[in-house]
Amino acid sequence: MTKFSDLGLAEVILRALAQEGYVAPTPIQAQAIPPLMQGRDLLGIAQTGTGKTAAFALPILHRLIAERRRPAPQTTSALVLAPTRELAAQIADSFRAYGRFARFNVGVIVGGVSHGPQIKMLAGGLDVLVATPGRLLDHIGSGALRLDTTRTIVLDEADHMLDLGFLAPIRKIVSRLPKSRQNLFFSATMPKEIASLADDMLNDPVCVQVTPAATTAERVDQRVLLVDGAAKRDVLVELFADPALACAIVFTRTKRGADRVSQHLEAHGVGSAAIHGNKSQNQRLRALDDFRRGRTRALVATDIAARGIDIDGVTHVVNFELPETPEAYVHRIGRTARAGAGGAAISLCDNSERPLLRAIEKSTRQSLPVIDRRSAQPAQEERAPRRAPQEHRRPHERPEGSRKPAGRAQPHGKPAAGARPAKPSGASRPQNSGAKSSGRRP
Ligand code: AMP
Repeated sequence: MTKFSDLGLAEVILRALAQEGYVAPTPIQAQAIPPLMQGRDLLGIAQTGTGKTAAFALPILHRLIAERRRPAPQTTSALVLAPTRELAAQIADSFRAYGRFARFNVGVIVGGVSHGPQIKMLAGGLDVLVATPGRLLDHIGSGALRLDTTRTIVLDEADHMLDLGFLAPIRKIVSRLPKSRQNLFFSATMPKEIASLADDMLNDPVCVQVTPAATTAERVDQRVLLVDGAAKRDVLVELFADPALACAIVFTRTKRGADRVSQHLEAHGVGSAAIHGNKSQNQRLRALDDFRRGRTRALVATDIAARGIDIDGVTHVVNFELPETPEAYVHRIGRTARAGAGGAAISLCDNSERPLLRAIEKSTRQSLPVIDRRSAQPAQEERAPRRAPQEHRRPHERPEGSRKPAGRAQPHGKPAAGARPAKPSGASRPQNSGAKSSGRRP
């Protein structure tokens, strides 16, 4: 087994890793760190939960320690681009944790907060800047930041950047970097626009693939409950009767849906909070903090809000609605079973969502166990599904982050009679192998 000390990392980094409780590198770390320390470019095909943050953060910190160069004002030595504010904050926390015994200036630039303090921070010069693309471009445009001395760029969750429409801003940012630089490119999946961006950016990269693109995390115990659309909320409450659902992320497709589901859980005694793009930064942070500390059992989230969130000890992922794409399914269930732990994913699927289920099974090359929880229905209903009655999705309600309106209505009606209680999942709360950096669930 490779040890961190075999990788030739600076002693101050090894000390920080020991303090984090990391015993051995994860596969992506063992494969990526040596070539990155030699200055190679890297294409990493990996989901979150594989340890990819440390895979890129450790060699960057190692190089900064070796060079001991103070960054000039309004510059950054390394730049990490991340799709969401939450992920950017987490990546910066990881850099600070791994670099805690050396003095690094690590900064975060994200939208939704005022420009002033960010301009002041940039004025001092940074070793590492973690940013979302939109706000970063504002600062480049106003002259608060220049990238002509940046030597390393990391693009994290590139496929998610594509979903959010960040491809053009990324290309603009990359055009401001010096020609001679190190490029690190991470994506869980490789749609063709991403493959083409990688091709343009990378120079003879080492390719590290820890799980094949769009392959479901193997340790997640997955199951599907076939339910009547109108009974979903009650089935969800019944699932929470099982104490094994100690710490569950519930995914909905729309922001409004997230609010409604969260309110329904609260009304039935299940502590819950919703996070999505309409919540303020403070509301999001509070919801995440309450969930991390175990004050709420459920975090109801849209894909955009939850992607990249790193919370240890998530016992279950519940898909209240199946996502539009198999890639989103893979990302969702990757919220549990992190860093070697186990976890369970339960998907509530109504008749209208069966094509989505088939697409997930096809893409992930697996057949998911299905439990039929529908109330008794005449046989022909199987062939000609009854339209769910009330509360269709309103025209303006579309999956958060989707660029064009979705055609499919989402039933959220009153519960149907006869929904049976769920079988206890039997999944116990996963134990993580390592102590964590900041503010994570104990
Ligand atoms: P990531 O894929 O970077 O989001 O990392 C997922 C989780 O794994 C985070 O909670 C990290 O703190 C944790 N982690 C990363 N590397 C290691 C390691 N070598 N040993 C134990 N835990 C790790």
